[in-house]
Amino acid sequence: MDKIYLSSPHMGGDELTYVNEAFDTNWIAPLGKNVTLFEKKVTDFVNTTAGCAVSSGTAGLHLSLDLLGVKRGDVVFCSSLTFAASAFPITYLGAEPVFIDSDTETWNMSPAALRRAFKEYHRLGKLPKAVVIVNLYGQSADMDKLLPICEKYNVPVVEDAAESLGAVYKGKMSGTFGRLSFFSFNGNKIITTSGGGMIVSSDAGLIEHGLKKATQAREDTGYYEHKEIGYNYRLSNISAGIGCGQMNIINERIEKKRDIFKRYIRHLSHIPGISFMPETADTFHTRWLTTLRLDPSVVKVTPAEIINILQSENIEARHVWKPMHMQPVYSGCDYFEHGPDCSKILFEEGLCLPSDTHMTHGDIDRVSLIIKEAVLGTVLSE
Ligand SMILES: *Cc1c(COP(=O)(O)O)cnc(C)c1O
Repeated sequence: MDKIYLSSPHMGGDELTYVNEAFDTNWIAPLGKNVTLFEKKVTDFVNTTAGCAVSSGTAGLHLSLDLLGVKRGDVVFCSSLTFAASAFPITYLGAEPVFIDSDTETWNMSPAALRRAFKEYHRLGKLPKAVVIVNLYGQSADMDKLLPICEKYNVPVVEDAAESLGAVYKGKMSGTFGRLSFFSFNGNKIITTSGGGMIVSSDAGLIEHGLKKATQAREDTGYYEHKEIGYNYRLSNISAGIGCGQMNIINERIEKKRDIFKRYIRHLSHIPGISFMPETADTFHTRWLTTLRLDPSVVKVTPAEIINILQSENIEARHVWKPMHMQPVYSGCDYFEHGPDCSKILFEEGLCLPSDTHMTHGDIDRVSLIIKEAVLGTVLSE
């Protein structure tokens, strides 16, 4: 049987046209037409003002925090339930991350925990320089509750939209809620440039500054002059060409991801002890990854055991992100929980199912059957 992947690169067909054009015009590096076009395609799609394509999502967050003036000794609030790349750039800048729990309705940042963190750090006289709000697995965080809390303390938000390109929250596209927002085009994301990212904002001046910093902060002089520290973070014209082709089929990919989710729901949602990540009211969840929870009081097989069973069938599944406050590398950091510790619960009970857009209906049926057998074989009898 062919391997079934969690989420693998899926070309649409136009990518090579853009890449070939780069070869034909020798715009291999550094910048060029594809980069500008890719930025336009993404900013048009999410309906925002300006974008700067960068070499990765991680680079995009590093650049964003730097643009907001985060520096050594500062505090930055950050979602705990996420991939480490949402927090690492805080550390690159010498700042101190403070982790905020999720709630089980959205799986994203808990407004209650955020409010408590602000109260406490206000009391300490150490308000954060920024808040990194992550949109997990294709769904926006509850921005109407989170943003006013940050506004009250006048602290800017960086929206980690690495997993949520195409998601909608109350009529607005994911990636338009932060003072700066960023996407990732890593190989497993909903579209890919093989590796890449983009920062976007409604503030064109901020993106202009980002562009300068991403290209070694060269001043606009005839010679090499530098008044601030820069990075080499721009996306190459070749990678951007892949991105242009991918943006032509973004809606098809979202549709397919949601189709995969619906088929899993059909097979598995009625099984006692299984619950899927909710799609909250007034949001459009792309279902980049279909994720579920196994209630341990009902189901006696663990996510780890299911992952192993699937792996023996050449099928890739994953744990939900291990929260940052549980990571050895961040063991000294402060943490505000929702009460109970929801991100810990979601980590322990959560499972990411293969959600690869190459999957056939037969593949989804096969994965579902394996999970069904594993779970039903061990449901506690009444
Ligand atoms: C993938 C991802 C990133 C990092 O993006 P890269 O392009 O891999 O550097 C950041 N945050 C989250 C939540 C991600 O899933």
